[in-house]
Amino acid sequence: LVNDIEDKEEDLELRPPVITVMGHVDHGKTTLLDAIRETEVTAGEAGGITQHIGAYQVDVDGQKITFLDTPGHEAFTSMRARGAQATDIAILVVAADDGIMPQTIEAINHAKSAGVPIIVAVNKIDRPNAQPDRVKQELTEHGLVPEEWGGNTICVNVSALKKENLDELLEMIVLTAEMEELKANPNRAANGVIIEAELDRGRGPVATVLVNNGTLKVGDAIVAGVASGRVRAMVNDRGERLEEAGPATPVEVLGLSDVPNAGDLLEAVEDDQSARGVAQKRKDKKRADELTRNTT
Ligand code: GDP
Repeated sequence: LVNDIEDKEEDLELRPPVITVMGHVDHGKTTLLDAIRETEVTAGEAGGITQHIGAYQVDVDGQKITFLDTPGHEAFTSMRARGAQATDIAILVVAADDGIMPQTIEAINHAKSAGVPIIVAVNKIDRPNAQPDRVKQELTEHGLVPEEWGGNTICVNVSALKKENLDELLEMIVLTAEMEELKANPNRAANGVIIEAELDRGRGPVATVLVNNGTLKVGDAIVAGVASGRVRAMVNDRGERLEEAGPATPVEVLGLSDVPNAGDLLEAVEDDQSARGVAQKRKDKKRADELTRNTT
């Protein structure tokens, strides 16, 4: 980061938690993410149209929760590799009719090594061959002892398909987030992480940014990896135009010169010139690195 200044304790305010859904293939990660989004939108404004921008936010009794909409571990690990920790809580989806599988164990290990708390969603509870207690037994064998068995891992039985018990899962996320006391300083220049990015025919480079700290504003000079520019417009996951986006808000950002990579850090800098300068330096360095690699 260019503007890596430490915030004073008194400038910090509570912010929404950022959630990643992990688990074995076919255990219901995508279905769960869709179910939560759909339930919340129908509960909110009538006929709300959601945009798939790689992340979305829901409101649970006034408490916002941000979900990364890319299930799986790649997003999680590639971001960590770039130094961006974009997850506060991991939801581990385990199908109650299948139990713990290799990618479940992988997910547990990723979350543990990142120090991210895990909430287990025991999914497909509607299936006749669902065995939630067997799942809990297996979790215990991997160091996640359910609360009801005297441990401290929250497990919630859900059916993503039937949209059963999702409220309880959301409540548990809110509770866990409260204990984590997640804070950021909304009154500073923004930094964040690129969740996804593409070249749009009409709009040019479009990047979904998850703001980590500060507030991103229309008109801000920005740099993300080797791309730079100025925030021309911002659109949230409901297709609404925003003037500002605070901590833990996911937004589509228009106005970058190039398409950045997912996992790149984005930051607001003083002016266009410094944005271009930083981007250029990175481009030069990248080229130099490539040259050395080719000659050695
Ligand atoms: P992912 O690979 O983890 O993202 O899994 P998907 O969300 O694609 O789900 C895999 C399959 O399981 C799909 O056919 C889903 O319809 C089904 N599925 C997901 N959740 C449930 C559930 O709660 N109950 C039942 N019966 N099926 C489910």
